[in-house]
Amino acid sequence: MSGSKCARLSGARVQQLLDSVDSVLFDCDGVIWRGDQAIPGAAQVINLLKEKGKRVFFVTNNSSKTRKMYAEKMSVLGFDVNEEEVFGTAYCSAVYLKTVCKLEGKVYLMGSDAMRQELEAVGIQQTGVGPDHISGKQTDWANVPLDPEVKAVLVGFDAHFSYMKLNRAFQYLTQQDCLFVGTNRDTRLPLEGGKAVPGTGCLLLAVETAAQRQAQTVGKPNHFMFDCVASKFGVDPDRCLMVGDRLDTDILLGSNCGLKTLLTLTGVSTVAEAEAHQQSGCAERQGMVPDFYVESIADLLPALQG
Ligand SMILES: [Mg+2]
Repeated sequence: MSGSKCARLSGARVQQLLDSVDSVLFDCDGVIWRGDQAIPGAAQVINLLKEKGKRVFFVTNNSSKTRKMYAEKMSVLGFDVNEEEVFGTAYCSAVYLKTVCKLEGKVYLMGSDAMRQELEAVGIQQTGVGPDHISGKQTDWANVPLDPEVKAVLVGFDAHFSYMKLNRAFQYLTQQDCLFVGTNRDTRLPLEGGKAVPGTGCLLLAVETAAQRQAQTVGKPNHFMFDCVASKFGVDPDRCLMVGDRLDTDILLGSNCGLKTLLTLTGVSTVAEAEAHQQSGCAERQGMVPDFYVESIADLLPALQG
């Protein structure tokens, strides 16, 4: 599989690539679905890969769902998937706090109810989910009651993000021994029709700015997402393919972990962006150049059906 990077994957090369891997990691949004609609042919690709003995995993930075919720969504869309194969940042950040940080204490959670569920599933108590309205004046905010058992602040996607939550996270983080973890740094959540909404990266940056501290992030491109899969299923990086629609998260994760990488053009990034990274001469940007690209993962179908 050596040679020039960023090559269109077609013809005999598809089979060659598939023969060179045992495991395939897929990003979700922009790869196997867009919003609530499956990418045409995606379910067939996933199901045929599994039928042919490949191990398939899903790695998503989106923290708004538990593994169970993702598995249910996939099942509705026709994917043959069980929840152990899904690695979202709600789950992975709970694992990170438990196994890497060995957290003893509670989490101040700026995030979703799905994140609360994944934390509780690994035995970590939390406080903070839901709206937190402001009252009183600045001196009251500075002396807002804090839970003494909180030993970490975790920031994920929080539709109830507010000034009071930012303040509360800040007050916890002024305690030097308080851990600071974020799910991911994606700045935008793309929607259909060229629309987008602000992503978790915006919320995390607000907390980092206030606290004057940098969070440790769990999601792609941090290799922890891959470590989570690899440690549980014994994945060999040399025989693993990462498929994604974003160069700065999916493809960079693949490069960071020594995986083969495939960009699909049904989501955020373009071939022109990949080529610009390749031609930049900048060593750091080479990690964002995929080995191959396809218009859609449905381009893998002929080789799988043959
Ligand atoms: Mg994506």
